[in-house]
Amino acid sequence: MAAVLLRRSLGRFPLRPWNPILPSWAGIGVRFQHSQNHQDEAKRTNRLETSSARTLMDIGTRRIFSTDHDIFRQSVRRFFQEEVAPHHTQWEKDGQVSREIWEKAGQQGLLGVNTREEHGGIGGDLLSAAVVWEEQMYVNCSGPGFSLHSDIVMPYIAKYGSKSQIERYIPKMAAGQCIGAIAMTEPGAGSDLQGIRTNAKKDGQDWILNGSKMFITNGWMCDVVIVVAVTNRDASSIAHGTSLFLVDNGMNGFVKGHKLEKIGLKAQDTAELFFEDVRLPADALMGEENKGFYYLMAELPQERLLIADMALANSEFMFEETRAYVKQRKAFGKTISHLQTVQHKLAELKTQICVSRAFLDSCLQLHAEKRLDSPTASMAKYWASDLQNSVATQCVQLHGGCGYMWEYPIAKAFVDSRVQPIYGGTNEIMKELIARVIVSEK
Ligand SMILES: Cc1cc2nc3c(=O)[nH]c(=O)nc-3n(C[C@H](O)[C@H](O)[C@H](O)COP(=O)(O)OP(=O)(O)OC[C@H]3O[C@@H](n4cnc5c(N)ncnc54)[C@H](O)[C@@H]3O)c2cc1C
Repeated sequence: MAAVLLRRSLGRFPLRPWNPILPSWAGIGVRFQHSQNHQDEAKRTNRLETSSARTLMDIGTRRIFSTDHDIFRQSVRRFFQEEVAPHHTQWEKDGQVSREIWEKAGQQGLLGVNTREEHGGIGGDLLSAAVVWEEQMYVNCSGPGFSLHSDIVMPYIAKYGSKSQIERYIPKMAAGQCIGAIAMTEPGAGSDLQGIRTNAKKDGQDWILNGSKMFITNGWMCDVVIVVAVTNRDASSIAHGTSLFLVDNGMNGFVKGHKLEKIGLKAQDTAELFFEDVRLPADALMGEENKGFYYLMAELPQERLLIADMALANSEFMFEETRAYVKQRKAFGKTISHLQTVQHKLAELKTQICVSRAFLDSCLQLHAEKRLDSPTASMAKYWASDLQNSVATQCVQLHGGCGYMWEYPIAKAFVDSRVQPIYGGTNEIMKELIARVIVSEK
């Protein structure tokens, strides 16, 4: 897997360890060529944790990663800095990113990183996928819905899709030529998914899909959307009568509403979707009939982990952005970093972020080993997204009036962070899932 990732990532952005603008970790690329597994293991135990690193975003840190990941991270960072960040302000005005960036990300091997190679994905490990999530947050560019596409939508198809569905979608999705979305939420069903009304009824071999979905990420640009629909109203509960369908853009009766105007995530295309007597062939059903809810329950922990890791990575970004700001902003004849109140605030923020990073890295490691349980993923999501909002509020404060100006990255980070405790299951629902196990009699 590492070889594939490296081939793809080095192909377009060859390492330039001699480049004076690259920091000291750039030499890792050269060392890697000679590294062997046991050497790598030894290095892993010597790696700095973020609390001891020069910055919270340093490459070459955190013992869950290896030198393979560092080299990959180096090229991913360059991609986001060179290909994404310069265009983001325009995409915020457009309310969506360009199609081109999806294809570029595909060419670079950044989509479907954790999807198996034999399925048409990249074949990297979960930690490599996390590198992509984190690097997107380190440039503070929330526009591209890569993580939802790669690590929420693609896993459903890869795990529950038929051979022909996998062949039809996965290679194109990995290439960025087919954008994926997932539609669970409806006007009358968000936290309580059992309230969904969208339904599919059998008509011969086909299915007829009716209903509507709202707040769908990648909804406007998507080429395929996984739709959660009721297929058996007579089941003892909706959970036993729900199925997942793959619905292609352009199908008769599949209508996209307008791009929704949000207070943040300005470059992300969030949309309503309508299904009016959409005739789906039998092979649009994904997995087994009436098993949709079980699939959702199995996949939601990864969605929550992904949100948590991105929330924490963005907190790390905000901390560094604010550290740089207070070191140059002057008041009363000195930079404000000389003020003890500012120093203590930064000390508090750094401590909170680093303590959370230790837990998050443990969750990433557990999930890489397929040992992360749902309540623990919920803890990570609730904790990290709440922390992100707290860090955002305090970092805006440390920026003074500039923190309220759109041109300052901290202002964008502030509004983008607000949705994190809401989607992927609200933090109140996370506490329900955590509490259920605490008070269980079993
Ligand atoms: C930008 C954005 C992108 C999104 N992307 C997607 C997507 O791609 N696909 C998709 O399917 N959905 C998506 N969503 C929807 C998102 O997952 C839902 O908004 C979320 O699950 C909350 O549902 P709701 O909005 O209906 O809130 P509600 O369920 O109406 O909740 C309102 C309030 O009541 C509280 N509440 C509800 N039930 C309980 C309870 N049992 N105990 C305690 N408190 C409770 C909630 O915590 C919340 O505070 C997105 C939303 C946004 C804003």
